[in-house]
Amino acid sequence: MSYLVLARKYRPRSFEAMVGQEHVVQALANALTQQRLHHAYLFTGTRGVGKTTVSRILAKSLNCTGPDGQGGITAQPCGVCDACRDIDAGRFVDYVELDAASNRGVEEISQLLDQAVYKPVLGRFKVYMIDEVHMLSNTAFNAMLKTLEEPPEYLKFVLATTDPQKVPPTVLSRCLQFNLRPMAPQTVQEHLAAVLAQEQIAAEPGALRLLARAARGSMRDALSLTDQAIAFGAGALAEAGVRQMLGAVDRGHAVRLVEALAAGDGAALIQSVDGLRALGLSAAGTLEEMAALLQQMAVQQAVPGALDAGDPDTAVVERLAAALAPDETQLLYSIVVHGRGELALAPDEYSGLVMVLLRMLAFKPAGSGSAERAAPRPAAAPAQAVSAAAARPAAVAAAPALRVPTPAPRAAPAPVARSPEPPPWVDAPDESELAEPAGLPAPEVPEPRPRAVVATVATVVAVATTPLGDRWTALVKRLVEAGAIGALVRELAMQSECIGFDEARIVLRVDRETLRSAANVDKLGAAIAQVLGRAVALQVEAGTPEDSPARRDAAERARRQAEAEQIIADDPLVKALMAQYKTARIVPGSIKPH
Ligand SMILES: [Zn+2]
Repeated sequence: MSYLVLARKYRPRSFEAMVGQEHVVQALANALTQQRLHHAYLFTGTRGVGKTTVSRILAKSLNCTGPDGQGGITAQPCGVCDACRDIDAGRFVDYVELDAASNRGVEEISQLLDQAVYKPVLGRFKVYMIDEVHMLSNTAFNAMLKTLEEPPEYLKFVLATTDPQKVPPTVLSRCLQFNLRPMAPQTVQEHLAAVLAQEQIAAEPGALRLLARAARGSMRDALSLTDQAIAFGAGALAEAGVRQMLGAVDRGHAVRLVEALAAGDGAALIQSVDGLRALGLSAAGTLEEMAALLQQMAVQQAVPGALDAGDPDTAVVERLAAALAPDETQLLYSIVVHGRGELALAPDEYSGLVMVLLRMLAFKPAGSGSAERAAPRPAAAPAQAVSAAAARPAAVAAAPALRVPTPAPRAAPAPVARSPEPPPWVDAPDESELAEPAGLPAPEVPEPRPRAVVATVATVVAVATTPLGDRWTALVKRLVEAGAIGALVRELAMQSECIGFDEARIVLRVDRETLRSAANVDKLGAAIAQVLGRAVALQVEAGTPEDSPARRDAAERARRQAEAEQIIADDPLVKALMAQYKTARIVPGSIKPH
């Protein structure tokens, strides 16, 4: 027995069976019932939404003679008379389908139109269906126009196109136009579920959701993909198999990335990308899955409870939706879909992915990433964002225009100058490290006084250096210079304090759990062995590092900053200006060391 592909087997044969195009079906059915027949119809819409299907049903409606041979024009073709069966089988002499994409010359159209002068052989009407009509040459259009202007009463034209802009206005104006919509993923998913139930094929809801989404609004594509998935899954549709077939990225990865963004955890982001790369998962697929997740989160935030409670993913979506503010979700979504388009421009797709993720981190609104965020921020947010933007001149103005509310700077404007240019992976936790001891309020802002030396972080991040720290910092420098470690391993090395260092063993201490992964520690150990030229056992303990290379760096930057500011403050010209203009002051943060 030959296998009939699902797209053909389940091609709708009546208006009632058409899914997702109710507005078109209703209008056509009414016109047929009331015998208000137009002589030319134009169906527009993307591929696979049902243009040919609706044309065939229309041809049957016009030619059906009913089961008893006595029927007339109807909105419910019987499906059993000769006309109905022949049209379904594609062998009705008075129904002609012409694909203009492959027959675009005036020759084919002329032949077709020559036949138009003859009355239908069997049916009431001749129906000419011209698919992709926009592909016809101008001469062919002109030839058709004559017949369109004065058609014989027994001739109906059905024109279909994916690109109505390219159809000449003279043709458009003679057609009754219907736009067939791309089908919503939910509609496609429901239809697939019904088809598979009829086929008695077991399918996981997650598998159907993936197929429905991959079809991008085309029912035909959805059914073709389902055919492939059935073959791929040896008769059953499991989510994991479909994911593999489509090259789609497991939702768990997208969930972890959104969690890391919500927590402002740059290290976890980088680690996730390393994981995706190791698994060979596509960056584009990752961003698509993130976009889908963020979209569902936005729905949940706007209309709580609107998501399908039966979907196993809903609980996760609800949890994430509560962890981000609605405007932040919108912002992340916008960056994801824009970033998806930029992947092709990136040096490689994972670099592109990293940049998109770091951009999301960089645009994270102030105050997020902590418990206070759980309370949704109301309508006042845009106003705050605007005032924050006004207060921050150059940096925000230079941000890419994303048509989205301008986010406030990540960190609240600190009373003390932050060390300039922190590396991108430095995230929220580092700020608490800087403001030592943790838990104490930030140092008081000195009253702005003329000629006051701007306070710097130098006093805040003074690091009590240790001999072990010296050795470790020197070793890390060698590792970095040798190019022996990647970004995440480098982060582990930089954030760690060395608490033991001998011939055979190095013991480190670091607080961030995400950095202490076995894979990370193994990589760092291997790099150290390579640089030192001998095997060294590397041990990483949990704990708060005091003297880490990262903190030394921060202190050094702060020291140079203070030095630069002092030079400016001591400059005779600056002093003279300050004395002359009582309101003159040095703008905090405007001085950068060389
Ligand atoms: Zn019939």
